[in-house]
Order: sequence, then C-alpha cells, then structure tokens
Amino acid sequence: APAPPPARHLFSYPAEVEALRGNLLAWYDRCKRDLPWSLLAATEPDADRRGYAVWVSEIMLQQTQVATVIDYYNRWMQKWPTLQALAQASLEEVNELWAGLGYYSRGKRLQEAARKVVSELAGRMPRTAEDLQKLLPGVGQYTAGAIASISYGQATGVVDGNVIRVLCRLRCIGADSSSPAVIDQLWDMANVLVDRSRPGDFNQALMELGATVCVPKAPLCGECPVKQHCQAWRRKLFGNPPKVPDVEDCGVGDCPLCPPATEPWDSSLGVTNFPRKAAKKPPRAMRTATCVLERRGCHGAPEYLIVQRPSSGLLAGLWEFPSLPLAQDLQEEREREELADHLQAWMGRPVAAKGLRFIGEVIHIFSHIHQTYVVYSLPLDGDVTLDPALSPSRWVTEDEFHASAVSTAMKKV
Ligand code: SF4
Repeated sequence: APAPPPARHLFSYPAEVEALRGNLLAWYDRCKRDLPWSLLAATEPDADRRGYAVWVSEIMLQQTQVATVIDYYNRWMQKWPTLQALAQASLEEVNELWAGLGYYSRGKRLQEAARKVVSELAGRMPRTAEDLQKLLPGVGQYTAGAIASISYGQATGVVDGNVIRVLCRLRCIGADSSSPAVIDQLWDMANVLVDRSRPGDFNQALMELGATVCVPKAPLCGECPVKQHCQAWRRKLFGNPPKVPDVEDCGVGDCPLCPPATEPWDSSLGVTNFPRKAAKKPPRAMRTATCVLERRGCHGAPEYLIVQRPSSGLLAGLWEFPSLPLAQDLQEEREREELADHLQAWMGRPVAAKGLRFIGEVIHIFSHIHQTYVVYSLPLDGDVTLDPALSPSRWVTEDEFHASAVSTAMKKV
C-alpha cells in the first residue's frame, strides 16, 4: 500500500478541525448569498421535495455560474415543482427550458432519473449519498454528497472544483489535482472536515468560500475566515519551509502531494501556486456547414427550417438549421457542393451549390470541441415538401425559433 501522506498535508489535530469548522460556519452565517435552492432546502418540511430541489440545482450548477442558473432554476421549479411533475414532462419540454444552459444531456438525465424514482422507488428519493449514487442515473459522488448533506443532514463531505482549490491551498497540495491519488485524498479530507451537526451548511460554506473569497486568480486572503489554518497563506507570508524538515514535513522529493521537484514554489504566484493541474488537452477543432433555409410563411413573414438532432451524442434532441460536419481543409467550392447534396435530401429536389450564399463563420467553444460553423443561406420560392422519413423538421418564425429547444451556438448562427 502507498505510504500515507505526511502530516502537514492532513488535518490531524481535532482542535484545529473544530476551530476551522467554527470559523467557516460563523463566516457563512454572516456572508452567505440567499440562493433559492438553499432557502428551499432550509425551509421545506417535505424531505423528498428538499432532495429534489437540491438535486435540480446541483445538476444545473455543474460547469455553470450561479448567476446564470438562478433564472433557469426558478423557471424549472415553477414548471415542475415535484419529481412527479418532472416525470410527466416530455423531453422536448425539458430541452426547451434548458435551451442556452449548455451540456444538454444533464436535463435529459435529470428527467430520466425522476421517472425512475417515480416508477421504481415509489416516488421516494434515496436518503444517503451511497444510495443516491447507486440508484440515480447521472448522480455522481459529488452530487450525491451535496443532496445527502444539504437535504438530509448526512455528515458526508463534498469535493467540487471550488473545494479542490480551497483544500489544496489550505494544505499546500501541489501534486496534479486532477489525479486519482490527489482526488481520493481530498475526499478523505472533506469527510474528516465536514461539521457533524451542520454538514449541509458546512459543505455549502466551503464551496461558497471557493466561489467568493478563495477564487482562482486573485483570492481575498486578507478577508478569509480560515486564513489562520492556511498553509499556502503562511508560506506566502513567511517564505519557504525550513531546509531541514521536522517530523511533520514532507520527505525530500518523494511526497505524493507536494508539487513535482521540477515545478518548485513560485513566489510571484503566492497562494495561487495551488492547486496545480496537468496541462489540458487542447479542444478538438471541427468545421460544420450549416444552412439557413428561408421561405415566406402564410402571412408573408419569413420562416426558417429547423431539424432535430439525433437523440444521443452532442446536443442530443436539440433543433438546428440543417448542418453537415465537414472534413478539415476542404476547399470552399467542395464545402458548398457537399452542403448542397445534404440539403437536397431534406428538400427532395436538386439544390445548386452556387445558389448558396455564404454569410460568414461562427465560432463556438464546447468543453472539448472548438467548433466553426460555416454559415450559408438559401431563400426559397414556393413551398418545399419535407421528407417525413428523415429526422423531424419544421418551419418556424424567428420568435418560434428562439422559443424552441435550440443551442446557444445555433442562436449565434
Ligand atoms: Fe484561500 Fe487565501 Fe483563504 Fe488560504 S487564506 S484559503 S489561499 S483565500
């Protein structure tokens, strides 16, 4: 078994843990933001409804800022205030409400899981982190811990991006913070730290600290409620640890949680030396031709053709202008020809490549894809009979387009 990490990286002293909990919770009580899901979790007497509310908020908050989520969360809870209501919604309705929030599979999985709770668990949410993770599709270790601690008072920790940053700074953890060894260590630490009587508040406080004080680039250490427990802060104030380590310090060069010897402490970075991550893979470049087909509707207003994407994969089930992924380095003329052939399948009649008018390019960054949409338009005279054997498609006005389940990328197009 690997050697346990040196004591300086851990919270080994009960008195220090107690003091840290107290300081953090006192700060949270004074400074917390009034977020709708926290208010509901604190006041709602029905445990299933508390669990559902926290679950929805946690799924929405994955990779998304609080300020963006609030409006989506409020509309969602108004439309589907209970698991039972969500279980009866269609995927189309879910996608429409989710439009613009990104990572669309989240909404779909939330709805599938709600159906499972209603049909297989008699509408009762599992009450522990272990059961939540085991029984609910799309609920991972973090979300399970958040629901169980905030809604049901289970004394279990959580580790998300904010918590990783705070813990790595508190304990000067400079090994790759995305590596399984470090992540396991952080979970152990979060479980040791979590307050036994107010676990939900403690976890929210730790995340809130990371979101508002211990921020990535310019942390507000002077205002931090746990600075006296923070080794990165101490190191910034007092410089490098002594050359001769004492029993609590790391062994020379082989500590599993210290930065690699090739990347020593950089005093110009201060506490932002931590956390460290292995370099990210650059996003994959993709080009997609897309065509805005336009016709005059029955009242003379322009209408646009949108088609539905497949029910799995990127942007599953969302609507878009007819689009075609392109090979890289294709000549413009060839791009047009391929798009014209693709459109022909939708329209059931030949489309001349030279009739396509080039409008411009739109770049949209998905988490792992650098997507360039090459945008064309094609005004149509007369009606077009769409082939019902192809994916679902429909004509929409501009207002209908914006109310449909379309991605942010398509709105840019
Ligand atoms: Fe983060 Fe600074 Fe507080 Fe340490 S003292 S936890 S680095 S804000």
